[in-house]
Amino acid sequence: MTAPIPRLEIRNITRVFDGRRVVDDVSLKVMPGQVTCLLGPSGCGKSTTLRIIAGVDMQDAGEIYIDGKLICDTVFRIPPERRSIGLMFQDFALFPHLSVGQNVAFGLSGSKAEKRARVEDLLDRVNLRRFIDDYPHQLSGGEQQRVALARALAPRPRIMLMDEPFSGLDNRLRDEIRDQTLGVLKDEGTAVLLVTHEPDEAMRMADEIALMRGGQIVQRGAPYNIYNAPVDRAAAAFFSDIN
Ligand code: ADP
Ligand code: MG
Repeated sequence: MTAPIPRLEIRNITRVFDGRRVVDDVSLKVMPGQVTCLLGPSGCGKSTTLRIIAGVDMQDAGEIYIDGKLICDTVFRIPPERRSIGLMFQDFALFPHLSVGQNVAFGLSGSKAEKRARVEDLLDRVNLRRFIDDYPHQLSGGEQQRVALARALAPRPRIMLMDEPFSGLDNRLRDEIRDQTLGVLKDEGTAVLLVTHEPDEAMRMADEIALMRGGQIVQRGAPYNIYNAPVDRAAAAFFSDIN
């Protein structure tokens, strides 16, 4: 049997800022339908890695593949809008002048009826169908976040990149929104690369964790394997304040 092709693979990505290797020879894979979590303390290079995959920053070395096809190395580069990547960031704002429905429909092509059906289905799944004609400022932070999820998923991206998408939310809401988000992503079968500095979020959401420190991946594996057998004392300490 041949090995399945990763939805996303990055190989030996390096990014240097001011002579410092902020991302240092990072390789990782995200398999179809899986959530891979890039986990590590603040400043370790997670967002830079994600920005390079999204195509808004450029690596100094290394390659990016989607479904086995090269999309970017240091000479060849498919532009961000043609990578079939969905993005969700903490402060990735909705368009304030568009209704909830128009926000979700924004990146869609097809007939009006097809777009409407897709928008209604996604809003149903995040329990926000009743807000379809409202405007973002009429919604709570958690509701806006769920609209942002629906908007990112609407064009059926091959991969979703999520950078600390839940960190602006209040504690009481966070677990509920994490679980709902995970449910929608699994239903859609979307491959996800989720960046977080919170071990409990990675434990809750990931199929696979890549533990990052100082620009490098220091350990990777299933959440409970990493939790139960951290690679060194620093990794153990990082996981110890999990709640
Ligand atoms: P994380 O998302 O893990 O918190 P980042 O990828 O945002 O980390 O940043 C990693 C390091 O790279 C930090 O020390 C940050 O200050 C530095 N950095 C990020 N972007 C730039 C830039 N455009 N120019 C210089 N340094 C940067
Ligand atoms: Mg970051």
